[in-house]
Amino acid sequence: MVNLKPASSHPLLFVWRHKIISALKNFMDKEKDTLRKMIGLYCKKQHHSGNNPCSDCQALFNYACKRLDRCRFGADKPTCGKCPVHCYRPNLRGKIKEIMRYAGPRMFIYHPLDAIRHIIRSRKKVPTNPS
Ligand SMILES: [Zn+2]
Repeated sequence: MVNLKPASSHPLLFVWRHKIISALKNFMDKEKDTLRKMIGLYCKKQHHSGNNPCSDCQALFNYACKRLDRCRFGADKPTCGKCPVHCYRPNLRGKIKEIMRYAGPRMFIYHPLDAIRHIIRSRKKVPTNPS
């Protein structure tokens, strides 16, 4: 008996879909990883916390991750500093800006690869019409 599968469940389509989804997930994981490092750097030096950020900084990180998950640009995302959409709550936006200002230059010393990656991405054109 021949079992004809509908096109949408073709194994190749499944693999591609899976690849796209996991690439997007990896991208966002990398974004979060960089963010975690920046907040960690700031908190360690400014709030004199140890290896774990203080509860305020941890809450800010959790909030930022949620914003990233909901970012409408997905993998086309510009760096947050260049994003035309202001998705942070105003008080948290001020806070994250302060952290970026502090941690940005220091990233070259502590996490040069993340810093270089960020510079390359910040030169990317900002998508004009997000879906
Ligand atoms: Zn802190």
